[in-house]
Amino acid sequence: MPKDRPADTERNQVSVAAARRIILDSISPVSGWERVAVRAALGRVLCEDVIAPCNVPAHDNSAMDGYAVRAADLSAEGDTALHVVGTAFAGQPFSGIVGAGQAVRIMTGAAIPEGADTIVVQEVVRREADRIFVPPGQKAGQNLRRAGEDLPLGGVALAAGTRCGPAELGLIASLGIAEVTVRRRLRVAFFSTGDEIASIGRPLAPGQVYDSNRYTLFGALSRLGCELLDMGVVPDDPAALEDAFRDACSAADVVITSGGVSVGEADFIRDMMSRMGEVAFWKLAIKPGRPMAFGRIGNAVLFGLPGNPVAVLVTFYQFVQDALLQMMGVSPLPAPQHFAVPCAVAIRKQPGRCEFMRGKLLREGARLSVTLAGAQGSGVLRSMSEADCFIVLPEDCGGIEPGEPVLVQPFSGLV
Ligand code: AMP
Ligand code: MG
Repeated sequence: MPKDRPADTERNQVSVAAARRIILDSISPVSGWERVAVRAALGRVLCEDVIAPCNVPAHDNSAMDGYAVRAADLSAEGDTALHVVGTAFAGQPFSGIVGAGQAVRIMTGAAIPEGADTIVVQEVVRREADRIFVPPGQKAGQNLRRAGEDLPLGGVALAAGTRCGPAELGLIASLGIAEVTVRRRLRVAFFSTGDEIASIGRPLAPGQVYDSNRYTLFGALSRLGCELLDMGVVPDDPAALEDAFRDACSAADVVITSGGVSVGEADFIRDMMSRMGEVAFWKLAIKPGRPMAFGRIGNAVLFGLPGNPVAVLVTFYQFVQDALLQMMGVSPLPAPQHFAVPCAVAIRKQPGRCEFMRGKLLREGARLSVTLAGAQGSGVLRSMSEADCFIVLPEDCGGIEPGEPVLVQPFSGLV
């Protein structure tokens, strides 16, 4: 670190890792549950294991179009001639028994007829009228899908704590199950604070800014499937804030505010939180988002996010989202998606805070690198919109040279 650049540290600031631990250690899943139809389980969290009431697949069946044969009939040296005695379609099984020297024409998904134990794909078979010639080299039991090979009867098909995505809905349906038990939705109240914050739909007075934080939070919370209580904009007035906190805490499991949590003269959020409840920390070694308060009032968990629009999203994704998932009952929490790629540009940084810059992944053939997505000011929301990942620079990092590897967290994932 160059001597003329002081480390970017402050007293009482908590590291990103410590803050995550404090948060996740102090919250637990909500206890209510409900029964919902399969489709309504999308995005919901299973409250109990889903036990397979049947085998999936239900029967041994063919993985290919071809012929069901008896492995013992097949010659290892030359072609084997077999007599085709019937056909098995998916949903229309062959009802007879395959005897010695016999085969059954079979389609993908059709149940394996009694007596047969091996499927020979049609492409390698020569057929003449009702006789086929099977070349050597077939393996006993090949091209079969066994009953219960996907989900065995009585096994745990999905564990409690699983959040249902498209694959889980299909899996539940594949078991013939119409309803599952999921945890109740998390109730999240949120409001913006600031005398200068104006709601959309009317002209701005001098010095005002439109409220964007309530909309980013609406988006992020909706995607998590929370029940939302949008409480609008609350002025920088202790009495109004106290009322808002009281209402929010009586109605919601989680209260999220933005703004007013710094050390300015109109920043009342932290004091209000500690007067009405308790504050575990309020200063983080993070950029953007140094002021962020975490605490509780009664049973409600509080996140006092910073006011700057980018800082809201950074702190939401780094701290709030996993906390909400944990309260929703998700277990285990999804592993953080980090990977290292070379940084295409130089980045200036002072040691002291963990910095979440907005990045854009660059792809050249199979090689990925990352660059900065536009201006990095904590009020420049466009950088979030243009970015597709965070570039995560740890606390002790003192800057990045072009070509140096950096950690990135992509914004989107499959599933
Ligand atoms: P504060 O932490 O209250 O000092 O806010 C920091 C900066 O974020 C100020 O420039 C605020 O005007 C801005 N800000 C606070 N809340 C919002 C909001 N809801 N929407 C847009 N900007 C906001
Ligand atoms: Mg403010």
